Amino acid sequence: MKIVLATHNEGKIREFRKAFAGIGWEAVPVSDVSDAPDPEETGTTFEENALQKAHYYAKATGLPVLSDDSGIVADILGDKPGIYSARYAGHHGDDEANNQKLIRDLAPYTGEDRKGHYVCVVALVWPDGRELTAEGSCYGIIRDFYQGTGGFGYDPLFYLPEYGKTMAELPMEEKNKISHRGRALRKLLAKLADEPMD
Ligand code: IMP
Repeated sequence: MKIVLATHNEGKIREFRKAFAGIGWEAVPVSDVSDAPDPEETGTTFEENALQKAHYYAKATGLPVLSDDSGIVADILGDKPGIYSARYAGHHGDDEANNQKLIRDLAPYTGEDRKGHYVCVVALVWPDGRELTAEGSCYGIIRDFYQGTGGFGYDPLFYLPEYGKTMAELPMEEKNKISHRGRALRKLLAKLADEPMD
């Protein structure tokens, strides 16, 4: 079985590819099989965005597609940055500006008020419209200074009390074990194993 990965992120491609190899599926990045332009992200939830992207590419490629949508939520800021995590400061993918904005927005808060979590929804959609989704979370504290050089995005600010480290200090294998994305993916694979699908 071949599956298309609706992402251009090398790290995600490696992680997803490895997970699907475990069940005998060959995962290929969407850029290998389609020239279709990336769809716009217009959903109001992580799930809507992930499903939208997966349906779009399943139609474009005629193959099953795995997509994900993720972000970080600072509890005290309600749902923010949430689905806007990648463009929190205005420009899509400007990690430094996004981090600085989050530091500014959380400046009045200390201790427990700085609790936050990462969220990821993965969606698997077949060309005939069938769909499966799963959600994973990872809880920590959002600090106001950087520590660690691994990971990406908000990771140097995201402190994991039980590890005494930020997400950016964990080796990739360790991050995958506890991350929102790793958890969502393992849940999805478990659901897939229960499905009467090919
Ligand atoms: P996307 O799901 O790849 O669009 O990611 C959305 C945004 O959420 C990213 O640009 C990051 O800012 C943030 N994000 C998602 N997952 C992570 C993570 O594992 N570490 C750090 N930031 C993340």
